[in-house]
Amino acid sequence: MDLIEAIVLKSLDYKDSSKILYLYTDSGLQSIIAHGVKKMNNINRALSQNGNLIKVSFSKGSFPSLKEGEMLNDFPNIKQDVLSYTYLNHIMELVNNTISEDSDHPKMFSFLKRLFSLYNDFQDPEILSFIFELKLLYFLGYGLNFRQCNLCNKNEFLVFNVDNGGLVCREHLSINQQSYESDIYLLLSKMYFIDINEFEKIDITKNDRVIIRHIIDQLFDQYVSFKTKSRNILLQLQKY
Ligand SMILES: [Zn+2]
Repeated sequence: MDLIEAIVLKSLDYKDSSKILYLYTDSGLQSIIAHGVKKMNNINRALSQNGNLIKVSFSKGSFPSLKEGEMLNDFPNIKQDVLSYTYLNHIMELVNNTISEDSDHPKMFSFLKRLFSLYNDFQDPEILSFIFELKLLYFLGYGLNFRQCNLCNKNEFLVFNVDNGGLVCREHLSINQQSYESDIYLLLSKMYFIDINEFEKIDITKNDRVIIRHIIDQLFDQYVSFKTKSRNILLQLQKY
């Protein structure tokens, strides 16, 4: 049987010695039972950790079980760093809970593999997460507009506003709406449009990171209505 590539998004204990693995593959989300993997001498024991890239085959049916598996990459550097690993889990929670069945899974799967490699190469974990989250909005159908005013198409005197999902001119900004100037929205747009295959380091000050985190949280609140558990852990680790 052919083995397919999968990312282990989450694993849950199941009965005494088994686990349920929540996988993401280039055909979408897939949960499988991995019988006996908690036993010390089980050959698939190492596979089940969150964030692993593995190759598996599984039985058919409504609740398939793991047949064969092999490790492709366990991204050891990520797992040694609590901040990186928490960001990785934040990303995997978003994948597991927001991506719909009819999405372009091959595209998302190859994006995630590249992203995880960058994490493992010690690239800035927070900036990689910003990039993922902004691109996820687009992937979920909530594309951000960085070109002109959303309402009149004017392209000067623009500010970024969450309620408008992008840029708006000052005339069309309501009085009580919070807005962000070009220093912030140019950073957002740079990360939104970046080609992950040609990733280059981006410098963002601490102060701007706090603002961008706040904007992305608001965008997810408003458009996706989903908050990860890892986001709360990040709040404890980073204080914002
Ligand atoms: Zn306008």
